[in-house]
Amino acid sequence: MIPLAVPNLTGNEKKYLDNCIDTTFVSSVGEYVTRMEDMCKVACGTVYAVATSSGTTALHAILMSVGVDRGDLVILPTFTFIASANAIAHCGAKPWLFDINEDWVLDAQAVEAAIQTKCSVTPEGKVIHIATGRRVAAIMPVYTLGNIPDMNRLRGIADQYRLPLIADAACAVGATYKGRSLGTLANASALSFNGNKTITCGGGGMVVGSDENLMKHVRHITTTARIGTEYEFDMVGYNYRMTNVQAAIGCAQMERLDTFIERKREVYRFYHQNLGGIENISLFPVTEGGTCWYSGIVLEHGGLDKVRRICAALKEQNIESRTFWKPVHLQKPYRDAPCQDVTYAESIWDRIVTLPCSTGITDDELRTVVGCVKDVLIHGSN
Ligand SMILES: *Cc1c(COP(=O)(O)O)cnc(C)c1O
Repeated sequence: MIPLAVPNLTGNEKKYLDNCIDTTFVSSVGEYVTRMEDMCKVACGTVYAVATSSGTTALHAILMSVGVDRGDLVILPTFTFIASANAIAHCGAKPWLFDINEDWVLDAQAVEAAIQTKCSVTPEGKVIHIATGRRVAAIMPVYTLGNIPDMNRLRGIADQYRLPLIADAACAVGATYKGRSLGTLANASALSFNGNKTITCGGGGMVVGSDENLMKHVRHITTTARIGTEYEFDMVGYNYRMTNVQAAIGCAQMERLDTFIERKREVYRFYHQNLGGIENISLFPVTEGGTCWYSGIVLEHGGLDKVRRICAALKEQNIESRTFWKPVHLQKPYRDAPCQDVTYAESIWDRIVTLPCSTGITDDELRTVVGCVKDVLIHGSN
């Protein structure tokens, strides 16, 4: 079977794991956690980094630290993995859902227009969503596939309305925007090191940012809100720490970040060159500085049933492929979340076929995938 996206563990992973066991440092204290944070600071261009247990908990910690609270709204693109919305819900808040543009990222223009027409600003500067009476507490773009939205414009909106700008960069480690590192764009950004991401720790996450107070708060609440070294705590904290075992794998992975991203981009180029000419399909979008976390095709016609038939036909050829994110506004827990016009997201999500794109995929395997995809598109699946 040629898998969709599996970890590539052929570097120093085993050696560093052995070291964890030999030294007994398997838990949440250890040199690899610190080293992993340092490597993420460098990779993301930030002053601070706080390792967490997942991308979801990284997002939750940021949202709490910027003051997102019960009843608030957080601006979010509807086309994202559900964890982005869940992190908001874990604060007792709701996502306010927006459309994406052709790069599959938050439509900044739609956000600006909606704040102007659907919100009022109180004398104290609070932004209130008029229809629900809820406070808008943050803007949270998602760096889909490693594509970064118009952050200059989103920064302008965030500054004008004094809203924190938080990035779900879970699948975007290594991405850049106009030559700038990922971590310099938002007040704080969340990375994920889940098994299907470009860099994995098995499971894990990271908050990166350069706002000292914000990042201190993130550190505090993710490590049980302890003060001093005894059993004294000053608020309800969380155990969202990364373990040294997770970080050991992560450090070995981060040593190869550039190689991994280069391979992701090669996979993308290979599909682009070999499938790009086929009628009635297009390739995934990629922005300048994008990291091509996932690659695949978008059908011009047809919906989920056709995508499923293609995936089933590829499976018969031992190739794993899948549908992609079903938008948040179509998910049961978020059907009542306030939602803007989401025409583009609705028009595209059920025509997407993700194709094998592990960093360890061989050129031979890529040729096999391309041959089978062509075959299935031309002969089967109708
Ligand atoms: C993977 C992912 C997450 C969640 O990260 P976990 O580490 O699985 O909690 C959130 N948002 C996006 C966009 C992701 O791709």
